[in-house]
Amino acid sequence: MSFNSMRNRKPFERASMVNHSQLIQNKHVQAFINECIIPESDLDKIEYPVGHAVNLDEIDKIKHIISIDGGYSETYINKGFPSTAIAFFNLGVLLFEREALENIERSVIINPEDLKKLKEIDKIPLAIPARNVLMKGCQDFSHGVRKVIYQFFNSKASSAFPDKTLIEALRWLMFRGWSDGEKVVPLDFCPYEDCKSKKTEFYRHGPNVVTCKSCGREIYLTDYFRFHEIINEPNGASGIFGYLTSLIEQILLVQIIKYFYENNKQCLSKMLFIKDGPLAFFGQTFRLHKPMRELIAQLFKAGENKESIINIVGLEKSGPFVEHAFYIQEKLKENHFYILNDEYIRKYIVSQTSQNVYGHNTYYGWKVIYKTEEKDVLVISIPVEKYIGDPKPENFSNIEAVLSVLSKMRCNMYENSVVPIALINKLVSISEFPSSKILENYIKKNID
Ligand SMILES: [Zn+2]
Repeated sequence: MSFNSMRNRKPFERASMVNHSQLIQNKHVQAFINECIIPESDLDKIEYPVGHAVNLDEIDKIKHIISIDGGYSETYINKGFPSTAIAFFNLGVLLFEREALENIERSVIINPEDLKKLKEIDKIPLAIPARNVLMKGCQDFSHGVRKVIYQFFNSKASSAFPDKTLIEALRWLMFRGWSDGEKVVPLDFCPYEDCKSKKTEFYRHGPNVVTCKSCGREIYLTDYFRFHEIINEPNGASGIFGYLTSLIEQILLVQIIKYFYENNKQCLSKMLFIKDGPLAFFGQTFRLHKPMRELIAQLFKAGENKESIINIVGLEKSGPFVEHAFYIQEKLKENHFYILNDEYIRKYIVSQTSQNVYGHNTYYGWKVIYKTEEKDVLVISIPVEKYIGDPKPENFSNIEAVLSVLSKMRCNMYENSVVPIALINKLVSISEFPSSKILENYIKKNID
């Protein structure tokens, strides 16, 4: 619940205050509070990470910036009961020339006309059932949602790649298409509620849709994400939307990486991908962090001189890391970056005593705080060669080049954001913005 909506509930609030004082006196609650561990917050007691100065001349290594973002909204399509809803997704890929972006006035209010002049775009729409909509030919609501997701992945969604499907990129990732990699991906479940089969397999050179050996119904490669498990009666498909958005964003990223990796690898080294949010696969999609880390490791030595050719940064705009960075900002030096090692994260940001390093089964980038020359503080994640708890600057992929770009892209339009992300946030929220084939042309130009 947002702060604003809470404010409209005064009587309820007052009632809960009374309950609070009773609760605090309760011996079970007191015992609970004694068991709580909270992060250290005394600024003088924090042992700050070592700062590393950034060589801003590295910026010239990056020529193009690609930002990727998506959003969705649910629309009710009848006013009767039971309520019926569809979710509309809007995903965008923007390409910028770095030098053109540097010239943008930082505080400018960007309108759609500016957007047209500034960048080249690919806008990808998707509609899926959100509540109480049965798709033709499907046995129930969940089946319809699964089928629509599969059909989207199996369509030529991106105008930048008019003869390619997203599922090709997904397969490339799941089966490690850059190596001999995986031959088979097993599913130990059947997505139909009434079937107990645990033996479905997808093969490297096999089809995207297979038949369940037990119930004989269709199983899609995209069922790998177990979305059916969080589609339910009261909430419809709402639980999957965030994961699905993030999944598609990252598969769009993989699609571009795949294309250049196969056609002109060295070109990748001049591009910086900027993703809204951390470099991680959460929830239903978490399994993909593993092949993604393997892909990153592959790209780490894929350059002409065995150098890393992958430049990706995930930018966080909210959450405990952003709150922490804001809190300690006075203690940080300008134009320095700070690697938050596992010990630091546990002690001061996210309390945990597990043996595994932070994000061990979700992330493919490591957390860094960067304070720019202009004293802006950014929380980012950048790919690391190996996912260890205490990476050094040399373990990150081209970190100084990436930070140099960010130092020029700070945006006053939104808090904790940079221009490419602000622009794409704007783009995916503009419903009538025309799609374009310029990204396609750009890609062709850079290959031929
Ligand atoms: Zn089955």
